[in-house]
Amino acid sequence: MPERVLAAGVDLGGTKIYSLVADADGNVLADDRRPTQAAEGVNAVIDRIVASVRQALDEANVDTGEIVGLGISTPGPCDPQRGVVTEAPNLGWSDVPLVDLVSKKLGVPALLENDAAAAAYGEMKFGAGRGKRHILYITLGTGIGGGIIIDGQIYRGASGAAGEVGHLVLEPDGVACNCGARGCLEALASGPAIAREAAAAVTAGRSDLMAKLAAGKELTAELVLEAAQQGDPAAKDVIERAGRYLGLGLVGLLNVFNPEALILGGGLIGLGDLYLGPAFEAARECGFEQVLADVTMTTAKLGGRSGALGAAALMIDRSTT
Ligand SMILES: [Zn+2]
Repeated sequence: MPERVLAAGVDLGGTKIYSLVADADGNVLADDRRPTQAAEGVNAVIDRIVASVRQALDEANVDTGEIVGLGISTPGPCDPQRGVVTEAPNLGWSDVPLVDLVSKKLGVPALLENDAAAAAYGEMKFGAGRGKRHILYITLGTGIGGGIIIDGQIYRGASGAAGEVGHLVLEPDGVACNCGARGCLEALASGPAIAREAAAAVTAGRSDLMAKLAAGKELTAELVLEAAQQGDPAAKDVIERAGRYLGLGLVGLLNVFNPEALILGGGLIGLGDLYLGPAFEAARECGFEQVLADVTMTTAKLGGRSGALGAAALMIDRSTT
């Protein structure tokens, strides 16, 4: 039997570091999870990444010499060519040469990739996009990001900043977005957008139930879902509206990219049909017939592992081609 090819993958997030050791078929041998503690600075986070990968390797009984390298999924814009995290607001990083730093400490080759792109790659290799080569992956959570795969390759744009699907402007006079524009998809359909609209409904006296559920704590998209499931019309309305906005964004993306698979991932897919139903419906109503005939619209299959698995797969594919 030929020796199997192994790699490590890390998903570096604003709050947690998730590491795993995987083979070329996407089997996970072991994994490790620990807090990022980004406030302690770049070096402390690098040390934690290295410790986390070593822990996963130890558990898998694999020596660093037995892996082809480490793939790192990083939040926000990055430059995979140079291996630099150009900007990661939730880590407080800019222009950090992450690949060099981690590679030196761990003693193996490394690469990095934007988290949504890495997740898209993971879903293509082992998840909902298996067997497909034209894929749009959209992550829905605190922010809305995208990974674009064209003919089996990640599309990164001129400098690695492609895929910012959350900043498609849908309402030119809409609410302000974190990016400085108004009415972006992210400002209308993300978790914080749902929470904001729900809070407005509470303030306007339109939902006693949400007021009760949120008493003494932060009103989140999860609480809005809880209220909607208990029959609260205002909560239901807020989620459905966000879903329709998502659908408008999807229509534009589908018509532009004509993908074989549209995969939705991230925490907000937990809102289920109430959110995804209106989104898919809007996409089906407005998309071009041929574009709709070509695409499978679905949710992600790898859950929280997609970024780390995708990064590991990128490392394996780079080492074997
Ligand atoms: Zn924006």
